[in-house]
Amino acid sequence: MAEEIMPGLFRIIIPLPNSPLKDLNSYVIKSDDRNLIIDTGFNRSICFDAMEKGLHDLNIDLSKTDFMLTHMHSDHTGLVSRLFTETSIVYIGRIDSRVFNENINWNDMLDYALHNGFQLEELIKAAESHPGFKYRPRKIPEFTLLDDGSVIQMGNYRLKCLLTPGHTEGHICLYEEEKQILFSGDHILYDITPHIESWSYEVNSLKNYMSSLDMVRNLPVKLVLPGHRNFFTDLKGRVDELKEHHEMRALEVLDVLGKKTMSAYDIAAQMTWDIDCENWEQFPTAQKWFAVGEAIAHLLYLQSDGQIIRHQGEQTDTYSAV
Ligand SMILES: [Zn+2]
Repeated sequence: MAEEIMPGLFRIIIPLPNSPLKDLNSYVIKSDDRNLIIDTGFNRSICFDAMEKGLHDLNIDLSKTDFMLTHMHSDHTGLVSRLFTETSIVYIGRIDSRVFNENINWNDMLDYALHNGFQLEELIKAAESHPGFKYRPRKIPEFTLLDDGSVIQMGNYRLKCLLTPGHTEGHICLYEEEKQILFSGDHILYDITPHIESWSYEVNSLKNYMSSLDMVRNLPVKLVLPGHRNFFTDLKGRVDELKEHHEMRALEVLDVLGKKTMSAYDIAAQMTWDIDCENWEQFPTAQKWFAVGEAIAHLLYLQSDGQIIRHQGEQTDTYSAV
């Protein structure tokens, strides 16, 4: 079902079964000559059916439709492979586009996970059940690349790209200055906390995320349109909450660590998680993957702040407080 947010701007809700995110907000801007769809859903039939129904309600002709993908995650990009046509422009941020262009090296990522305390068997299960891998786009369109400051004009919407690294390295928000609306992608969500993970020692994703939050905090914004769940109005208030949340999580990591020396995996196992499981053993393996990634993001953040040290081990890297 499609719902009108303001003249010419609509939302189609795309279900994401088995995902704690519940569904994805796909935004549609309809103008006289062309349309723009912002984010699409997983590459799976249930998403396609919901999208098709919404587009039908709105009378959208896909041969006159362009796409903008806020970041590379499969719940935002996957379905684009079934939707784009020969005449479609498909926009994505330059940095996130690399994931599709280069041969993304899953081995490097697996190696990194092993070094952070995953057991090989569990790791293989986690990788195989990872929804981002299962429902990724298969037919990759030729992308039109966006940078910080790029502008997409669609009808009377002028969308300025804001590079907001953190949730992914190349995440992009769209800001409509005159109407004071912000398409926040997964940079800022209202009902849930965006996932911040790290799968490379080179990228301090949490530090980047905190700076990206500061970057948008004071924008004049009347309405925030996030990638998942509800719209909201208090951008500043939400930014402050998210920053506080991560400072608390960093403190929790220090608390779990105490005077011990531990791997990221063991730290994640002792952190509190908002998930319906009695204990760490019961976590679905894909959720363990997310949890360890998030623990590492906080560890790297604390390390760059001089509060902890990473010890490179032959098999497993460990951390201890300074
Ligand atoms: Zn995402």
